[in-house]
Amino acid sequence: MSMSAQQQQQAAQLTPCRFCSNVPTAKTKFRGHRGLIIAMQFRHVDGPFCRDCGLATFRELTSKTLIQGWYSYGSFFIAPFIVLWNLINRGKVASLAPPQPSPYGGAQRPMDPGRPLMARPASIIGVFVPFILIVALITVIALTSDS
Ligand SMILES: [Zn+2]
Repeated sequence: MSMSAQQQQQAAQLTPCRFCSNVPTAKTKFRGHRGLIIAMQFRHVDGPFCRDCGLATFRELTSKTLIQGWYSYGSFFIAPFIVLWNLINRGKVASLAPPQPSPYGGAQRPMDPGRPLMARPASIIGVFVPFILIVALITVIALTSDS
C-alpha cells in the first residue's frame, strides 16, 4: 500500500525541524564553500528545516560562501554553483507557513533568521571579491609580462 499524495504531504508537515522541532518543515540541504588557496572546504547542513531555521541556515552559509568561497583556483568556479544551489533551495523553506509547535511536542524557539542575505556586509563585500581578484590578477600579469 503506497501513501497518497495528501498523506505524504501531511507526513512532511509533521516532520519536526532538525533544530527546533517546530512544523511544518521542508526537506532540503544548504551548502557552504571555503577556498583556502591550496585547499578547499565543503560544508552542508541537511534539513528538515522549519521556515525560520531554514532561512537562518541559508543566510549564514550563503553569506559565508560569498566572502570565503573564492580563494583557490577551483573555488572560483565552485562558489557560484554553491550560491546558486542555495538560492534555488531557499524557496522550499521561504514558502513554508510560520513555525508552530509540533503536535508531538518537544518544540523550542526557532532560530532568528537574522538580516536578509544582501543586507549583510559579508555578502555585499563578497559579491565584489571575484571582480577584485580578476582585476588584481590582470594587473599582476600586466606588470610581470615581458612584452
Ligand atoms: Zn526550526
